Amino acid sequence: FGDGGATLEDVRFDERGLVPVVTQDARSGEVLMLAWANLEALSRTLESGLGTYFSRSRNALWVKGQTSGHTQKVRSVALDCDGDALLYRVEQQGAACHTGERSCFHNPLRAEEELPRLGLTLERVHDTILERLRTLPENSYVARLHAGGLDRVLKKIGEEATEVVLAAKNRDREELALEAADLLFHMLFALAEVGVSPDDVARVLAEREGKSGLRPPKPAG
Ligand code: AMP
Ligand code: ZN
Ligand code: ZN
Ligand code: ZN
Repeated sequence: FGDGGATLEDVRFDERGLVPVVTQDARSGEVLMLAWANLEALSRTLESGLGTYFSRSRNALWVKGQTSGHTQKVRSVALDCDGDALLYRVEQQGAACHTGERSCFHNPLRAEEELPRLGLTLERVHDTILERLRTLPENSYVARLHAGGLDRVLKKIGEEATEVVLAAKNRDREELALEAADLLFHMLFALAEVGVSPDDVARVLAEREGKSGLRPPKPAG
């Protein structure tokens, strides 16, 4: 784990020897669960890289996923400002909640407002495309694209790109959003067929981030 500066000594366990742990999906940022850790659970989490907690009801150490298989690969552990709470950022295998829901927080008291994010939506659509390619359901558009062959889809990408160009030229915002969505979808399909994931694309973009797209500046003098 990284050398963030905090040590086990900085953790302020409560009178029961416990500290609350918020567990978050490292990829999406989604809050998955709230559980408790004692010193041993935390130490084991740090050593094994597997999300480990202390079950108050069973009064025992608990490696998440030990029975369900829904384990957590811990990417980072952070201490909050005053040391009385922990954050595990994890790669969650399957569902974090024992009900089978991905997150324990699936009972809204107040309904959430839809706030679709492009990156997360692309990832979800990618996952759906992979799933459809695996199962090829009869009424699926993805299955139909697959049956039609990659060349057809590549031609379609060209057409959608042209539609994006036209919409942008006309400064038609609604049309541009629609055509960009068409283009992205068919691009995701081609990526999936060829075996490239949005992560691969994100890696390239991230590498370029902060670097100027222009020529590197010449040293002065
Ligand atoms: P698991 O750790 O997923 O193998 O589940 C083992 C047991 O741990 C379950 O039967 C529950 O009692 C408990 N458990 C699993 N996930 C959660 C969770 N997110 N919150 C609270 N208890 C859980
Ligand atoms: Zn605190
Ligand atoms: Zn739960
Ligand atoms: Zn279109």
